[in-house]
Order: sequence, then C-alpha cells, then structure tokens
Amino acid sequence: MPTNPPARTARVRYAPSPTGSVHVGNAHTALFNYLFSRRHQGRFVYRLEDTDRSREVAGAADTQMAQLRLLGITWDEGPDVGGPYGPYRQSERSQRYQEALDRVEASGRGYRCYCSAERLAAMRAEQAQAGRPPRYDGRCRHLSSGERAVHANDPYVLRLAVPEIGETVVSDLIRGDVHFQHSELDDFVIQKSDGTPLYNFGVVVDDHEMAITHVIRGDEHLANTPKQLLLYDALGWKPPVFAHIPMLLAADRAKLSKRHGATALVDFLEQGILPEALVNYLGLLGFSPPDGREMLDLDELCQVFDLTRVQRSAAVYDPKKLEWLNTQYLKGWPAARVADRVRPVLAARGILPDAPPEAPPTIDFVAAVDMVRERAHTLVDLAAGLAFLYAPITTYDPAGAAKHFGPGAAERLRDLAAALEETSDWSHDALEARYSELAEAWHVSRGALIHPTRLAITGTTVGPSLFACLAALGPALVVPRLHSAAAWILQEHSEPEA
Ligand code: GLU
Repeated sequence: MPTNPPARTARVRYAPSPTGSVHVGNAHTALFNYLFSRRHQGRFVYRLEDTDRSREVAGAADTQMAQLRLLGITWDEGPDVGGPYGPYRQSERSQRYQEALDRVEASGRGYRCYCSAERLAAMRAEQAQAGRPPRYDGRCRHLSSGERAVHANDPYVLRLAVPEIGETVVSDLIRGDVHFQHSELDDFVIQKSDGTPLYNFGVVVDDHEMAITHVIRGDEHLANTPKQLLLYDALGWKPPVFAHIPMLLAADRAKLSKRHGATALVDFLEQGILPEALVNYLGLLGFSPPDGREMLDLDELCQVFDLTRVQRSAAVYDPKKLEWLNTQYLKGWPAARVADRVRPVLAARGILPDAPPEAPPTIDFVAAVDMVRERAHTLVDLAAGLAFLYAPITTYDPAGAAKHFGPGAAERLRDLAAALEETSDWSHDALEARYSELAEAWHVSRGALIHPTRLAITGTTVGPSLFACLAALGPALVVPRLHSAAAWILQEHSEPEA
C-alpha cells in the first residue's frame, strides 16, 4: 500500500519544456507539486527542459512562469529565482550530462551504437510488418573491440544495455507496484549522435543532482519510469519516489485537446474564470479532501493535500463544474473584491474607459457589480452585464422593441422621464413604489411601464431588477436615456421621407 512520504525535507520539481503557453494538464501537475511541497514544508523546484531547440517558442519560458504565477503558484528554486542546485535550465547543464554519460559508458552499462538511420528504419519497417513493436535488435551491444575499432571515426549514439531478463518495478505512491519486464524494453538511446542527452537521461541526472525526493508528474510518463530507474541503477544513484498523477481527459474520455475548447490556462482566464476558481478546480481534479469540501482556496488545498488520496483513474475535466465553482466565488466574495477583478476586464473591452464620457461619478461601481453578479458565471458575463451602465444606449433589442416600443411608447417614456425628474428618492424601494403609483394613476399595468423603461435604459429586455438598474444609473443618466429612446421610437414610426 502507498504510504505517506518520509519526514526528510521533500524536494519536488516541475519540469516544463518552453514550447507554448501552459496547458491545463501542466498546470495541474505544477499545482500538485506545489501543494505537496507546501504540505510537507518542502522545496519546489522549477526546471526548464529546454534542450530541444527546434520545439522551443521564443519567450515561452518567461510566459509560462508568469502564467503559473497568476494562479498563485510559486517556486523556491528555478531559472528566474536561482537556488543552490542550479543551473535550472537544461541547456546550461551539458557538462553534467556528459560526465554522467561517460560514467555509464565506462561502467560498461552504456555502449556505442553505429547503426545507420537506414538500417534502423528498415528494421522498424520489418517489425511493423510482422506486427511486432519497434525495438532495437542489440546488434552493436555485442561488437568486439576489433569491430569497434573499425567504427572509431563513425558517428554513434549511446544506448543503455538493458538486462535481458528480469523486471523493473516502479513502486508508485499512487499506482502501487507497476511491473515492467525487461524483455519489453529495448536498449534505448541515452545520447544522440550530436552529443545531446535524451529526455530520460537528462531528467535522471537533474533529479539526482537537484536532490529531488519525489517525482510527481502526469501518468503519461509512467512508461519512462522503468528506463529512468535502470539509469539510476547504472549510475549507482538512489532513485526518488515516484507518483504518477492521473491524466486529464475530456468528457468523451479522449485526451484533453483544443477541440474540447479551452486548454491553455490563459484561455480560461480570458473567458473570465477567476484564477482562484481554476486553482480550486484543478486542485480537486483527481484529488478529494477527506471532508469532501468543494470550495478550497490555495492555502486550504495546501493544508489538506495528500498524494495518497489522489485517484489512479483518469480525471475527467468538466467545464460545467468549473463554471459552477466560478459562479460560487463570484457570488460569495465581497462585492468589492469581485469589482476589483472585473475592472480590468471592462477596461480591456473598452467598456470602462479611463474617463467614461457618459458615466457620472454617481455610479456606485461596487453596488453595480453586486447588482449584476447574481446572473454572472464569469467575469466576462459580469462585464457584459455592467456595460449598459457605462455606454450610451444606441441600439435596442429588436424583439423587445417590436413588443415594447410601439407608437404610444414614446409619449409614455417622456411622461416617465418627467415623473422621474420629480422623484427625489432614488433608492430601489422608493422607485418601486413610485412605479406602482404611476401605474395606478395612469391606469396601466406595472409591466407596461417597467418593460419599456428597461429597454430604454439598458437596450435589452433581461437583466437585474429594473429598480436596481434605475438606482445604479441615477436620474442624470436615466432621464436622457428615456428621452433618447422616445426619439428613437418616433424616428422608427415616422413616415419615410419622400
Ligand atoms: N518536460 C517533461 C514534460 O513536460 C517533464 C517530464 C517529467 O516531469 O519528468 O512532460
């Protein structure tokens, strides 16, 4: 059975390649490492796996770090913050890899393979045709020294000599013991002909030299782990503890990809998901706290996180659940905190310019946020819901106009404007009472006043309580909007000019 980690200082790492923005699956891995390190008062190392220059995207390394920080995830050592086990960029560690490669070769556990690309391709094609998995046939493993001498000046790759019999057992903290038969592994390449080490080799050297105690990563790497354990053995090093966390799948159980919608962290944030909600959601993806709580902030997650409570089966990403959580935060936080988050969204959309042309300082922004948040699932919804406060209304929902802006509506709106100009108490309740009085005095239903007013002051037929909207806008905005809607109606119903 998996047990809790020992009490020595835990050191974990997150090791992304700078190939693009942070995918939600990587954020999940980074978060679990962060939570584990905080839970165990350990150290969290950020290591950049930047040896594959062909896949590197300029600026991605910095962008990725900035994106994780948006979630509140920080690290104790890394390329940007330094630390005692640096350098933290693989591209700066070539010397260390070479030393370790030399040791593996000198010990006889690694050997030079001179097979040409053509030979390997032909071998693979033959294996594929025979329905066998692609596997190196070990030809160069048993070359005599005389045969090697012939190749002295030829290019070569370095391979690890995997024992022919037996097995390697990965004792995984989450998955338990996973057995890999050596007969299923071939002599894999550890150094390319250009001298660069392969992923499995670099990672072992780094994890060892950075004194990593727990490797927590996505379970798509499980198949690499026996190879890494064989390398630890070849180098005479004690391996870390492994914990392979479940991969994120979409609802259709396929690997989460672009076709499922947002997959990059920034996509979620751009859609108006709060970083706090995203962290909460990712923290509970594949992990459940003992008390079954559903809303936990980053600190609370750090307190309860426990690798032994991480599930083995794939975690299914559910956008509805994420949105639900987001809604809970938007409703549950103090309105002022939500207001602080929505302000940049409004500014980015040009809804809330630095000096709003129409909006007088009378609008109580926090109160307005409080008013519209009831219906909002995201910050973007919230911004859309607030837009009517700040922009002059120039268009009216057509279906609403057909229904509520008939020929007589212009006069009604002007009467309302006049009546409201006389109204001194602009609180929600007083306005509500005033509309009841007017409806009674004019022998119409309240709806006959409420619907055209809403359309005139918001441009739409749906939204929060009309009286809250009126109160938020105040007479300085409401009265002119009623008049411009009246003018619009008259224009619409006037005879077209000859
Ligand atoms: N660069 C690898 C990745 O991004 C790291 C794998 C590991 O954690 O060992 O998946």
